[in-house]
Amino acid sequence: MSHAICAPACALFDLPDVHVRAVERGPRSFTVVVETFPTLVGCPSCGVLATGHGRREVVLHDLPCAGVPVRVVWRKRIFRCREDACEVVTFSEVHELAAPRA
Ligand SMILES: [Zn+2]
Repeated sequence: MSHAICAPACALFDLPDVHVRAVERGPRSFTVVVETFPTLVGCPSCGVLATGHGRREVVLHDLPCAGVPVRVVWRKRIFRCREDACEVVTFSEVHELAAPRA
């Protein structure tokens, strides 16, 4: 991946732990695929360290950027709780990315 593509796109979000994986240019718009840097995540219920359980692509807002519509696709991480006694089986990543500041 070219840093030259990534840098301006990452600056779009101004979030240090969000990384742009792909930028696809359509006829009248851009699609930006982002994901967060991997971190250790605990289960929200029991706090046991969770294991990765794949990803789900979530389309976030269409952000107009310099007059061009930009669709943001977040490759959200899915986690599985390793604690058998816990009622949480899987849970998905939470990030401020999904609720951009006004
Ligand atoms: Zn749990």
